[in-house]
Amino acid sequence: MDEAYDVVVVGGGAAGLSGAVTLARARRSVLVIDAGKPRNAPSGHVHGYLGREGTPPAGLLTAGRAELADYGGEFAVGTATSAAKDGEGFVVAVESPDGRVNEVRARRLLVTTGLVDELPEVPGLAGRFGRDVLHCPYCHGWEVRDGRVGVLATGPLAWHHAELWRQWSEHVIVLRHGAEAPDAAQAERLAARGIHLADGPVTAVETDADRLSGVRLASGEFVPLDALVVATSMTARAGLLESLGLRPVPVEFGGEVVGSRVPADPTGATEVPGVWVAGNVADVSAQVVVSAAAGLRAGAMINADLVAADTRDAVEAYRELQLTHFEQDAWEERYRSRPTLWSGNPNPQLVAEAASLTPGRALDVGSGEGADAIWLAARGWQVTGTDIATVALDRAAEHARAAGPQIAERITWSHADLRENPPAAGAYELVTAQFMHLPTEPRRALFAALADAVAPGGTLLIVGHHPRDKRTGPGPGVYLDMMYTPEQVAADLDPARWEVRAETRARQAVNPEGGEVTMHDAVLVARRR
Ligand SMILES: Cc1cc2nc3c(=O)[nH]c(=O)nc-3n(C[C@H](O)[C@H](O)[C@H](O)COP(=O)(O)OP(=O)(O)OC[C@H]3O[C@@H](n4cnc5c(N)ncnc54)[C@H](O)[C@@H]3O)c2cc1C
Repeated sequence: MDEAYDVVVVGGGAAGLSGAVTLARARRSVLVIDAGKPRNAPSGHVHGYLGREGTPPAGLLTAGRAELADYGGEFAVGTATSAAKDGEGFVVAVESPDGRVNEVRARRLLVTTGLVDELPEVPGLAGRFGRDVLHCPYCHGWEVRDGRVGVLATGPLAWHHAELWRQWSEHVIVLRHGAEAPDAAQAERLAARGIHLADGPVTAVETDADRLSGVRLASGEFVPLDALVVATSMTARAGLLESLGLRPVPVEFGGEVVGSRVPADPTGATEVPGVWVAGNVADVSAQVVVSAAAGLRAGAMINADLVAADTRDAVEAYRELQLTHFEQDAWEERYRSRPTLWSGNPNPQLVAEAASLTPGRALDVGSGEGADAIWLAARGWQVTGTDIATVALDRAAEHARAAGPQIAERITWSHADLRENPPAAGAYELVTAQFMHLPTEPRRALFAALADAVAPGGTLLIVGHHPRDKRTGPGPGVYLDMMYTPEQVAADLDPARWEVRAETRARQAVNPEGGEVTMHDAVLVARRR
C-alpha cells in the first residue's frame, strides 16, 4: 500500500470493486481494502446478474479484482477500523490479517461495507443459511421451484413472504415462530393460494446427508422441507461510517423494521462531504448487479467531485501565477537563470515588415536582449528599447556597444512597465511588440496604449504566438488564454483610424528538443491613417 490515494474504497464486494474499477479507469489512484466476507459467500452461485448467471460469488469477485489490477487499482486484504477527517481528505486505519495497523490517506472515501444478516435463533439454522435456508426468492426461488418451502414466520411480513414464494412453488407452509395468528382477511388469502399454516415455535432445523430435511416444531411434529425461508434483520455494517459521524437509520417495510442503512443521496453522497456509500450498506434491497451499478455511479460522482476540486486548485494556482509571472522580479529571475534567453537574431516578422519602411523613431516594446532594436538601429532608426527587466536591458546595451558606436548611440534603453507608464502619444513612426503575451485584459489595454503611441502615417506591428500552435502539441511556452489571433488584435482598432492587415504566417522553427516544427505567427500590421 502506498500512503496516499485519490480514493480509498472500504469493502471489496460488488459495490466496492465496481466503484474502484470505475475510478481506476478514470485514472484515479485507488485502493480497495477488503475484509473478505461478502454477504453472499455461503451461496454456491450468483443469480440475476445479467451475462454472469450462475457465477460462484468468489468467481465474480476474483474477476473484479483482476479487472481492477489491469487498470492499475490496488487491493489489500484487511479491515478498516476507523476513519477521520484529514484536511480536505481522510486518514483510514487499516488492520492487516497479521494484526499490524497502517494508516492510509485518501482525498475521498467510498464505503461499501455491506450489511450483516442477523438470523432468527433456531438450532441448526445458521449453518444452512444461503444453502437451503433462504431469504430472497429472486436469488434462490428458481433453484427450489416446486419444492416444499417453509416460511419461518417471525413477524407480520411472513404473510407477504409466503404469498411471494408461492409464485415459485405450490407447496408453501407458514411456520408460526413468534408471529401472531393471521387475521380473517389474511387467512382467506392463504387459503385462496393453498398456503398451509402450522403453529410453532420451530425448535430445530434438521438435516440429512448435508441437506435440509425439515424442521421440528415445539409440538414434536416434523415438517419435511426442501427450503426454509427466513427474514433476516439486515443491519448496515456501519462502524467505519459511525467513526465519521454518520449514523445508520432504520429501514421499514410493511410497517416492520427490517434493518438499517446509512443515508445518502441517489448518487451515494453522504452528509459528510467526501464520503460516498454504495451497495447494501446504503440499500438493504440491492442485489449484486444493483450494488455494482451503485458502486459505478458513486465512482463516477467521486471522480466528478475530484475533477471539480482539481480545477478549482488549478484556477487558484493559475491566478497566483498571473499575479507574479509578468512582474519585474519574475522577468529578472528568468534572465538571470540563463546567460542568454533569446536567439540574438531579429524577429523574422519585424525583418519582413520593417525592411521597407522609411526609418524614423521606433519603440521596441519588451526589447529583451536587444536584437530587434539593434537591427532597427542598423537600418537607421532612432530606437527606444524598453523592457521591464534591468538584467535584459544591461545585456541589450552591451550587445549594442559590441555592434559599434553608430548603432549604440541610436538606441535609448528605457526601464519601464508600460502597463503603468504608457509611451507618449503619437511619438513613434514604428511601434513594434514581438511576442508580448499577457492575460487578456492587461494585454488589450497595453496594445491600445501602443496604438496611441503611433504617429499619423506610422506603423503598429504586433506579432504573437497563434493559439493554433497548442492544438497539436505543447507549442510555445505561453498560456493558451494569453495567445491571440491577429483578428482579435485587429478588432480593437478603429477602422476609421487604421488601415489593417491581419495575417497568420507559418514559419519553421526549432523546438527545445532540437526538432523542426512549424509555428504560426499572429501578425498585425496597422498603418495609422
Ligand atoms: C445467502 C445470500 C445469497 C445471495 N444471493 C444473491 C444472488 O444470487 N444474486 C444477487 O443478486 N444477490 C444475492 N445476494 C445479495 C448479495 O449478497 C448482495 O447484493 C451483495 O453482496 C451486496 O454487495 P456489497 O458490495 O454491497 O456488499 P458485500 O458483497 O457484502 O461486500 C462487502 C465487503 O466489505 C467488506 N468489509 C466490511 N467491513 C469492512 C471493513 N471495515 N474493512 C474492510 N472491509 C470490510 C466485507 O468483508 C465484504 O467483503 C445474496 C445474499 C445472501 C445473504
